[in-house]
Amino acid sequence: MTDALLKTEKLRNFIDGEWVEGKEYTAVVNPANGKTIVDVPLSDGGDVNKAVQTAKKAQKEWALVPAPQRAEVLLRVGTLMKERKERLAQLLTMENGKVLEEARGEVQEGIDMAFYMSGEGRRLFGQTTPSELKDKFAMSQRCPVGVVGIITPWNFPIAIATWKSFPAIVAGNAVVWKPATETPILAFELAKIFEEAGLPKGVVNVVFGKGSAVGDAMVHHKDIRVISFTGSNETGRGIAAECGQQLKKVSLEMGGKNAVIVMDDADLNLAVEGILWSAFGTSGQRCTACSRVIVHKDVKETLEERLLAEMEKLTIGDGLDESNKVGPIINKDGIEKVKRYMDIGKNEGAKLLAGGYVMNGGKYTDGNYFAPTLFTDVTPDMRIGQEEIFGPVVSLIPVDSLEEAIEVNNGVEFGLSSSIFTGDINRVFQAQRDLDTGIVYVNAGTTGAEIHLPFGGTKGTGNGHRDSGVQALDVFTEWKAVYIDYSGKLQRAQIDVE
Ligand code: NAP
Repeated sequence: MTDALLKTEKLRNFIDGEWVEGKEYTAVVNPANGKTIVDVPLSDGGDVNKAVQTAKKAQKEWALVPAPQRAEVLLRVGTLMKERKERLAQLLTMENGKVLEEARGEVQEGIDMAFYMSGEGRRLFGQTTPSELKDKFAMSQRCPVGVVGIITPWNFPIAIATWKSFPAIVAGNAVVWKPATETPILAFELAKIFEEAGLPKGVVNVVFGKGSAVGDAMVHHKDIRVISFTGSNETGRGIAAECGQQLKKVSLEMGGKNAVIVMDDADLNLAVEGILWSAFGTSGQRCTACSRVIVHKDVKETLEERLLAEMEKLTIGDGLDESNKVGPIINKDGIEKVKRYMDIGKNEGAKLLAGGYVMNGGKYTDGNYFAPTLFTDVTPDMRIGQEEIFGPVVSLIPVDSLEEAIEVNNGVEFGLSSSIFTGDINRVFQAQRDLDTGIVYVNAGTTGAEIHLPFGGTKGTGNGHRDSGVQALDVFTEWKAVYIDYSGKLQRAQIDVE
């Protein structure tokens, strides 16, 4: 049955500005109710190759379009997204499950990124610098890399794609984009917007299909010069190894084990609000989700009581119903993974204070729902204190001091986001200096990044690159140093210097 909002039964690949049928399809299922929304193509390496060849041709022309004109296309993309914000948000909730309020926020992030990156069309700053020689001019400029491959996960189906594709486009690259098979609808919608905004054919190509087929073919394709990937560490490591062999540039944004630190002088009500939003928003399936609360022993009991009281008020169900605050888990595998961590936590000696079970029966029967869960008396070395669970599960770890809290925060393999609640300015500055994460929040939860700042993490979260912010341009450009000698004679650097 055709979904009324989507108005199609099948998605199509977008290659060379054409809507191309797939040879095989699989169903896209709404995690809130188990119903099929639409079918999505399962493409292969041949489709990737077509997309790359067309992108290669289109990129040569696109790179010659003045950047301010490239930016105008992005301005139109942002405007169309803004006009369609509500529809896009509803489709996003249907394919991903996050509640409508959060889906609207995610679409807004994409709109912000379009307007922000369109401004880059008149910046893309390089540098001019004096030459060491007379009558010689020196400058550095950003140049497009060529064809870039973008591989995105299901938990932010549109925001992450805009963090990557918009800077790539404004910098004069062409894009081959593989969205997650679980959540391809917003990619289809964004491709339609690119088309309507007047982006020349072939500059953005969307190829749907599994990571093991489409993603792998992109990583191996010699004409894709950059891979920008967001997803799990396991997949990212494999991609990095292959790109390393080919000396291909690769940007990785991966997992997190993010913590909120609550000090003894914190505003506890504010801390509870921040923890609930960070831990249970998107059902804990954000890369920046709070999955550890590192709490000063003097306020542990009070914090537990207040957290439990507020968790009881959380309403769980289909995100399209705006009375719900927590939506479903993406699929059955996700539910099984979270369930496994319940046993792991209990066997390690953690105390389960709330949740810990799959929600069944009534309105939960056909969806994938897991009750918001709170463990306490967790020690830093337990697996539930170390590993990314990617569900609505939070572990309380008691500590005696700020120094210990920072050590616990930093004692995991990831380094994406961290937060501290305290009223002491000295602790604020010490914490922001010593927390080893790419993002630090003070008196706010672990989520809430703004698009004009760099997004990414240290250690096992990434490989040193950043999405969004002006820093994203570093992934999609090469630096060129240019020397112009107008002396009319050969001048040798380092040698003919008096
Ligand atoms: P995933 O399984 O690694 O998938 C991510 C993307 O990679 C999907 O499009 C997937 O395709 C594709 N893929 C899978 N195998 C591949 C391969 N061999 N070669 C190339 N591509 C391949 O990750 P996920 O479970 O969807 O996403 C959740 C993870 O993403 C979490 O760890 C989360 O922390 C992380 N994340 C990080 C950030 C950040 O910025 N740091 C942001 C959001 C999410 P298919 O799924 O279609 O097969």
